[in-house]
Amino acid sequence: MSATRPAPDYELVVGLEVHVQLRTRTKIFCPCPTDFGAPPNANTCPVCLALPGALPVLNAHAVQLAVRTALALECTVHRTSVFARKNYFYPDLPKGYQISQFDQPIATAGRLDIGEAAGGAPRVIGITRAHMEEDAGKSVHDRFPSVTAIDLNRAGTPLVEIVSEPDIRTPAEARAYCGRLKEILEYTGVSDANMEEGSLRVDANVSVRLRGATALGTKTEIKNMNSFSGVERAIAVEFERQCARLEAGEAIVQQTLLWDATRQEVRPARSKEGSHDYRYFPDPDLPPLILDAAFIAHERASLPELPAARRTRMQAQYAVSPYEAGVLTASRALADYFEAVAAALGDGKPAANWIMGEVLAHLNNAGTTMAEFAVPPADLASLLALVRDGTVSNSAAKRIFARMTQGEGAPAAIAEREGLTQVRDDGALVAWVDEVWAAHPDEATRLAAGEKKLLGVLVGAVMKRSGGRADPRRVNQLLAAKLSG
Ligand SMILES: [Zn+2]
Repeated sequence: MSATRPAPDYELVVGLEVHVQLRTRTKIFCPCPTDFGAPPNANTCPVCLALPGALPVLNAHAVQLAVRTALALECTVHRTSVFARKNYFYPDLPKGYQISQFDQPIATAGRLDIGEAAGGAPRVIGITRAHMEEDAGKSVHDRFPSVTAIDLNRAGTPLVEIVSEPDIRTPAEARAYCGRLKEILEYTGVSDANMEEGSLRVDANVSVRLRGATALGTKTEIKNMNSFSGVERAIAVEFERQCARLEAGEAIVQQTLLWDATRQEVRPARSKEGSHDYRYFPDPDLPPLILDAAFIAHERASLPELPAARRTRMQAQYAVSPYEAGVLTASRALADYFEAVAAALGDGKPAANWIMGEVLAHLNNAGTTMAEFAVPPADLASLLALVRDGTVSNSAAKRIFARMTQGEGAPAAIAEREGLTQVRDDGALVAWVDEVWAAHPDEATRLAAGEKKLLGVLVGAVMKRSGGRADPRRVNQLLAAKLSG
């Protein structure tokens, strides 16, 4: 007999550190451009190359975007914050230190609700702090056979690091946090928040403890997660690994782990020498950052409607479900498009159905985004109005829509040109009904004898005869009239 002791009930504890590249035209302390994809080391100058005597000058736009980020996350923005040197040696860090913020960050004590999207109870994750810093360069290992190359284009790119409280309890919550955060970054326009281009980078601090315990367990840090699904999966794998170690009576070793998406496992990173003692001190080249109260108030007042508020409003205004509101607000461009169509049509529900169905399917198939979508909202609204008033059938509307996405013009003109308008003229419809009636004597007799399901068969035959253009509602009425007459 095996032991009957129940397995301990372990609880997952996760905090996330998210590095966000701010959407400035130039770097945080020099005028070099921040374009992604420039030739290696093209976007550099004495400041970001750390040549002797070069002095940093803080980019005001980066400060504005950092403040906007912090306010959108309901943080307290501090009037005074301090830039500090974080000292470590690494080949892609030319100064030998990174300018960051340490004990006086620009913002603290925010919150992010990750529960409302699913229409469930609020689930609030605390934000410990948000601080500004410069990015490091990149070590390029795959460009030359046996050499590591250094590209300093990214060195000095402005970042905000957003550190959460260890409030996250499941891998799915971690993913939801990333998704909600990305939405806010996109809605406020502070970042491209593009994980593939590295403008959004997520590290996870993971520990486990017995459920009910209050002390935190020893944590590991997972890096190198390149997608939100990767974040979710990596945390799930690390949770299992830590539970198994504790079950086996082994201790958790505090270490940095790299997520290997191909092998679906975590492995220890090579340690950065001296990475445990950064010897922070205030940067003597940069004075404390002092923000005017009026500036903070202005930024707060100019925040756009944030996604959570927009979802709530859209549910009330357009009678869409919480799920639909969640899909339609996934990006600001999509939400704007939906609202423009709904306004032009004067009806939210068909606009929601079409955008969640045909429009998203088209974007998905074409591998494109709403920003490049060729159909103006007014044209989609015109098409839906044609469906609503019975001018075109739903299936014809799909064919018209396909042509609209190719830039072939307004829906009414396409319908006319392609002969896709519904025939509601009784003269033509009665003739088709009579022809079908004569061509299907057996079905007609059985229908007349009360076999009601044959009505659909005959309506289908009329539709087929009309090339799909007959108005099915009117065909139904005519067949019913034929039966009773
Ligand atoms: Zn520079």
